[in-house]
Amino acid sequence: MRLTVIGTGYLGATHAACMAEIGHEVLGVDVDPDKVAALRAGRVPFHEPGLPELIAKHTASGRLRFTTSYEEAGAFGEVHFVCVGTPQLKGSEGADLTYVDAAFAAIAEHAAPDALLVGKSTVPVGTAGRLAAAYDVEVAWNPEFLREGFAIEDTLRPDRLVFGVGSRRAETILRTVYQPVLAAGTPAVTADFPTAELVKTAANAFLATKISFINAMAEVCEAAGGDVTKLSEALGYDDRIGRRFLRSGIGFGGGCLPKDIRAFAHRADELGVSLAFLREVDAINMRRRDRVVELARELCGGDVLGARITVLGAAFKPDSDDIRDSPALNVAARLGLDGADVTVYDPAAMDNARKAFPLLGYAVSAEEALRGADLVLHLTEWPQFRSIDPERARSLVRRPRIVDGRGGLDADRWTAAGWRFSALGRPAPNGEG
Ligand code: NAD
Repeated sequence: MRLTVIGTGYLGATHAACMAEIGHEVLGVDVDPDKVAALRAGRVPFHEPGLPELIAKHTASGRLRFTTSYEEAGAFGEVHFVCVGTPQLKGSEGADLTYVDAAFAAIAEHAAPDALLVGKSTVPVGTAGRLAAAYDVEVAWNPEFLREGFAIEDTLRPDRLVFGVGSRRAETILRTVYQPVLAAGTPAVTADFPTAELVKTAANAFLATKISFINAMAEVCEAAGGDVTKLSEALGYDDRIGRRFLRSGIGFGGGCLPKDIRAFAHRADELGVSLAFLREVDAINMRRRDRVVELARELCGGDVLGARITVLGAAFKPDSDDIRDSPALNVAARLGLDGADVTVYDPAAMDNARKAFPLLGYAVSAEEALRGADLVLHLTEWPQFRSIDPERARSLVRRPRIVDGRGGLDADRWTAAGWRFSALGRPAPNGEG
């Protein structure tokens, strides 16, 4: 089939490449001419494992092209996927639908009358119905669940597909688009618009709640002298609870979970339903960042002024260069404002971090970042950081003190190498607090 993918950011570029991979002819559309030029030249303007190769493969095969022209898109596509951003509104918890509205208006003007406009962006419940009523061209909603860092795998082999449709025709078209994915056994749930929209926001709300639940337990452990890692291990053996998303740490960030739970609570208010617990989920999450800042102060003797602090990590999660609402950079920036001499290192997100926080220091390697440090904060769980040798690291720093904000480091190894090791929600193994 001939598909367009409108908005070629993290979601859209991945979706476009994967649709080409399963055999479609795909035209990616973006209003950002620099992004389109980069993609045309085979350069992916963000870090996603395997994506540059897949885009290169299909631009070479002729199945994938990019444009800024809606006219070209309208003439090209039978199905148009809208993948533009839905950031948080300035001054409100709600979602900014400006880009979604603009993209639908532009493609509806140029699309063939029998085309299908498919929203993939994460939107407040009610958006699909409103857009369907506004245009003559049929609308469907097909929310996306991919995880950055696993985006290709998640698109080609998703846990499930959700089709929010208003007709059998729309469902049949979506089933045809995804035929190879469905043939591989992926379950599909067909639903009305509100249910399809809600699957996405409910999934994000559940995951955020699970993360904040264990982080709230970490707060209790800190107050009561317990160890949250043992607590989550024991909870995780319970099949009804499960171990995934149950590791305590500095909490979630990124371009999705924080803004999505806020937009969900806001939309629920509009509908007269209270999801106040999501605001507490949000607050618990933000408090973990405060706790790391507080720990850094404690470990530096009450004041970080002039302390050389190394922050390992800048991306909001490993295998990504996405720094949107990154807990690591939030903490780094706050310590910098308090007068610490902060040096950040991240395997992929250095350019983005430098642009967003130009006043922080940056190192070209973890080793360089560690040199002369008074305190090390491990804030993004890259595998590279887990494999740092604590003995070697100790020889580089001025004072061997580390806070594991992700719970991924081996406390015994670091302690045995002479480090004062602190983690969220656990007593220090060497009993130093
Ligand atoms: P992004 O900011 O990386 O990309 C959005 C792209 O849309 C940009 O390239 C921008 O230039 C383009 N754009 C804006 N207005 C446009 C218009 N009128 N026409 C054409 N292009 C336009 O955002 P993203 O992370 O890809 O997220 C997109 C949507 O997908 C959001 O609703 C997000 O919540 C959802 N989502 C994202 C992920 C993820 O992991 N990033 C996962 C699932 C769902």
